[in-house]
Amino acid sequence: MRNYLQHLECSQCSETYPHEVPQNVCTSCGKPLLARYALKQVAGIWQRDALLARPASLWRYRELLPIGDASDIVSLGETMTPLIHAKRLGARFGLTEVWIKDESRLPTGSFKARGLAMAVSKAKSLGLTALAIPSAGNAATALALYAAAAGMTAHIFMPQDTPAFNKETCRLAGAKVTLIDGLITDAGRIVAKRKAAENWFDVSTLKEPYRVEGKKTMGFELAEQFRWELPDVIIYPTGGGTGIVGMWKGFAELEAIGWIGNKRPRFIAVQAAGCAPIVRAWEEDADEATPWRDAETIASGLRVPQAIGDFLILSAIRKSQGTAIAVTDDAIREAMQVLPKTEGLLTCPEGAATVAALKQLVANGMIEPSERVVLFNTGGYQA
Ligand SMILES: *Cc1c(COP(=O)(O)O)cnc(C)c1O
Repeated sequence: MRNYLQHLECSQCSETYPHEVPQNVCTSCGKPLLARYALKQVAGIWQRDALLARPASLWRYRELLPIGDASDIVSLGETMTPLIHAKRLGARFGLTEVWIKDESRLPTGSFKARGLAMAVSKAKSLGLTALAIPSAGNAATALALYAAAAGMTAHIFMPQDTPAFNKETCRLAGAKVTLIDGLITDAGRIVAKRKAAENWFDVSTLKEPYRVEGKKTMGFELAEQFRWELPDVIIYPTGGGTGIVGMWKGFAELEAIGWIGNKRPRFIAVQAAGCAPIVRAWEEDADEATPWRDAETIASGLRVPQAIGDFLILSAIRKSQGTAIAVTDDAIREAMQVLPKTEGLLTCPEGAATVAALKQLVANGMIEPSERVVLFNTGGYQA
């Protein structure tokens, strides 16, 4: 298995870093590092048809993934997730092409599996054994399970009111869990303060360069499932924004190797009204977001008051001619029934938020009846 990963590059100042040693953020400007590949070489050796013979897993895109040695892959069976034509849901809104990318089918209960599969595999290749994470819930569960499978120790910091499912699954997997009186940003500060003395590697999203590589495979799958013709609109429940940043990057890479053209979907970032820093920044036409105070929402994955990749999320929204909108918890609660009733699909609150957003976008005339729209159901239903 050849690896085409060349180096890491700062998303702001373009300074480069070697990938053969553990890296977090840019040491000059503190911004996220992104993986850069030898795209010309990849274009020369990799054809779309090669995918046909490969298993339906995110590892089918290995030429554009950061793991060079297959024996380093830590896998729990990261299946390609179904893309379901939601005809009855669409009809309800007068649309013909509404599709659900159902990420609830992934291991660990949510799409956080994509990022943590990549981060833990890369950590294994670098010889790391102790990983630390601040989490709003699902990233903690994913790290706990992937670290367990790799024989590593996971140090987890999350709010004390994180959903019971996440707290229980971390304990079951033997992770070292600390519940804090605060939010994910407070948890992040604790990890940052203690990691050097404790010899932990920080796998906070976008402070660790490879979780975003896992998340970009959502974009690869979408492109492949739609036969290399991207949809018109992507509605995405946005917390740290790693999915938007990842898909945007992934689409650029697919274009660079000649697999897709320059059409991009409009990215619609959906946030909860009780924690909407990206929406506020978007409405103020700002390049960065200011921290949200007293963040509160039933969609725990969206309870992220501050995202280190804020400028990257806002830039992807702007360049794609998308938008950012907030939905209330009441609208999310109401939307929780919509996909189960119309399509037989259970959703997580964050997935339901995209349904609530669709309703709002249609009411505001922001989607044409025949446009192809993809909603991300990012996790499984938890009682
Ligand atoms: C983490 C999470 C999100 C937000 O994902 P980002 O890519 O970090 O914005 C959405 N939904 C669920 C279920 C999550 O766990």
